[in-house]
Amino acid sequence: MTAPRGSSAAIPGTLLQVAVTLPVEETFTYRDPRPGVPLPLGSEVIVPFGSRQVTGFVVGHPESGPGQLRDITDSVGDAPAIDESVLELCRWAAGYYLAPLGEVLRAALPRGERAVASRRIRLTQAGQRLVELEAKGRAHMAGITLDGQDRALLARLHAARSLSPTALARAAGATVRMAHLLDRGLVEIVDRVAGPTKSRKRAGPRKASAADGTLPVLNSHQQAALHSLQAALGQGYRAFLLHGITGSGKTEVYLRLIAEARQQGKGALVLVPEIALTPQLAARFRARFGDDVAVLHSALSPADRLAAWRRLRSGEVGIAVGARSAVFAPVRALAVVVVDEEHDGSFKQEDGVRYHGRDLAVMRAHQAKAVVVLGSATPSLESFRNVLLGRFRRLLLPTRANPVAAARPLPPVEIIDLRRHQMRSDQLLAPPLADAVAAALAAGEQTILFLNRRGFSTLMHCQACGAVVRCTSCDVSMTLHRGREKLICHYCGRAVPVPVGCPACKQPGLEGLGTGTERVEAVVRAMFPAARVARLDRDTTDGQRDRLERLLARVHEREIDILVGTQMVTKGHDFGGVTLVGVLQPDQGMHLPDFRAAERTFQLLEQVAGRAGRGERPGRILVQTFCPDHPAIQFLRSHDYEGFVRDELAQRESASYPPFSRMIALRLDGRIEASVRAAATSAAGLARAQAGSAVLVLGPAEAPIPKLRGRSRYQIWLRGTDRAKLVAVARAAAKVTLPRDVRLAVDVDPQSVL
Ligand code: ADP
Ligand code: ZN
Repeated sequence: MTAPRGSSAAIPGTLLQVAVTLPVEETFTYRDPRPGVPLPLGSEVIVPFGSRQVTGFVVGHPESGPGQLRDITDSVGDAPAIDESVLELCRWAAGYYLAPLGEVLRAALPRGERAVASRRIRLTQAGQRLVELEAKGRAHMAGITLDGQDRALLARLHAARSLSPTALARAAGATVRMAHLLDRGLVEIVDRVAGPTKSRKRAGPRKASAADGTLPVLNSHQQAALHSLQAALGQGYRAFLLHGITGSGKTEVYLRLIAEARQQGKGALVLVPEIALTPQLAARFRARFGDDVAVLHSALSPADRLAAWRRLRSGEVGIAVGARSAVFAPVRALAVVVVDEEHDGSFKQEDGVRYHGRDLAVMRAHQAKAVVVLGSATPSLESFRNVLLGRFRRLLLPTRANPVAAARPLPPVEIIDLRRHQMRSDQLLAPPLADAVAAALAAGEQTILFLNRRGFSTLMHCQACGAVVRCTSCDVSMTLHRGREKLICHYCGRAVPVPVGCPACKQPGLEGLGTGTERVEAVVRAMFPAARVARLDRDTTDGQRDRLERLLARVHEREIDILVGTQMVTKGHDFGGVTLVGVLQPDQGMHLPDFRAAERTFQLLEQVAGRAGRGERPGRILVQTFCPDHPAIQFLRSHDYEGFVRDELAQRESASYPPFSRMIALRLDGRIEASVRAAATSAAGLARAQAGSAVLVLGPAEAPIPKLRGRSRYQIWLRGTDRAKLVAVARAAAKVTLPRDVRLAVDVDPQSVL
């Protein structure tokens, strides 16, 4: 029977709860006036918001809404942009990270999934009016003050009528500016509706997986671990820590587990740190699973990424491999989640929605009732504690996988006490290390020299007045890069010609202090003129995949004798010919004002040490340090991860640091130092008023890098064991009224103190 006209005619169409992609906490109810089936959850829509049009996502189908309802403008695509399982994960993330749901959903979509190609920016009527007043020199009448860049941007939009985001971004700093022009209602986003292009059916049969006969025979530890994992498949949520020393064959275990899941028609998600650094790992997945794996790396074009996303969603491809944002990949029938090198800092997103990819991966597995495997040779303290608490089950791989290497203990670590060696400042390698390099060269073996700073000199100072050359937009010293003949700020990328004299006193005599990889390379070339030396850091690869891959291939082919590099050399590489690893000056990292400094140092050193002696010949590790007694160094000597962790956990517990407490950092920044400080002081006041005895409020304090890209920075740190109370304090503090130019970011489970 048809319903009587009366009541339902009041709201014809369907009601949609929409999360808009703006920094607002609430979701809003709209009406879809079109007849037919309601838009499914996760559908992308365009809705009016204030005086503009914005994108949003359908997150609910309310029964009733407020009296005054606005209609959606349109829907994007003919299928939901976000699957329900990913939507569920995003909801959890929004709650946990105190982030607006719409922003989390946006972070969850690959670039290109949104209708970016058809997105245009144009002036609103108010913007139009302002430009006209401006032309008559009467902008002040609108009561809005604009700076020169704003004006230029608005004028451009006026001339062009509308611009694509990319065109606009080419105008300096446009993305930052856009946000505040949007907020002030001067410009708006118009998304032209573009249905997703149908994914092309791929021609030809799927590439068969690598011949099964060539797979290595698992050793007994790998077998035992795999057996436990396979037994857990399909049993609901199960979490494991695969704790295997470097080169113990963890990857082989992931591959077998995933093969089993695929046999059962289930999907798998694999997160790896900085996928560009480990082309080898992606290649192993490809070799094993052929076209059944989508490798999601940042070098993919938006179109390719979109295509990969669609193939995953349709079930055409069952395995996704990628960096942290792949945690949102729409894998079907998810049964296995792997986080390789789970301790790695790159899993933490450091801007926008500040999520931790590893923690989200665990939650995703929980929601999907899947098996999650966190793998590492040096697990994070958080994960190790989860083992102690019985939340994760630990599986051990205590020997190297390669049968020859397995027969030996891990290579010994020798400590060189720099206090005992009189060295010229330009010498860099203490005699024992120099001798070891010479011996490796003579034996035709390869060496890795690790120093975690790039550039030539990390500091330029004036011998006359003592001034240090600092970046003009950041409060940090500039690093000399001799190759490029520039001083470069490592925080904002600003590059300036090397000044002839001191910028302060104008006297000649600037001198470089501190050592970076570029100087190490130069010194090593001079010491060993016959050796083939290469350097691996961000300067030599410059974000170019092919350069990186070529360099790694040359090391594999033994065309390089000595590889000098930053932490890029520590990451999972499996170079059979490397027998010697030398570590220069780990001291700076150990002494950072960060409660995780010791943990990070130990992880980094154990990882780089793990590059030695993986092949036929035994390895050797030499560490030069001024602090041989530091726990990170002492436990490294015996590769005693467990000893280190137990010691470190005791320290953390006595100081109430994570994982024995939780933290939330509030980060404020703005152009005017005094207003940032004032806002931070008010926010801290609000926090203290709410805190009671359960939450410790530290600060406000200037950040260790007090100025970045021209913005002054302050922090407030909250610490406590009761998460609900901690969150309540963070919410109270975040309600602070901010001057227009000051931004406040909430960072839950912060990883960086900078
Ligand atoms: P991890 O991921 O623990 O660092 P990998 O899985 O990369 O270790 O294994 C290190 C090396 O040992 C690789 O070259 C791999 O192919 C090889 N390998 C793994 N398992 C075995 C095995 N059971 N027998 C022989 N070689 C193996
Ligand atoms: Zn800078």
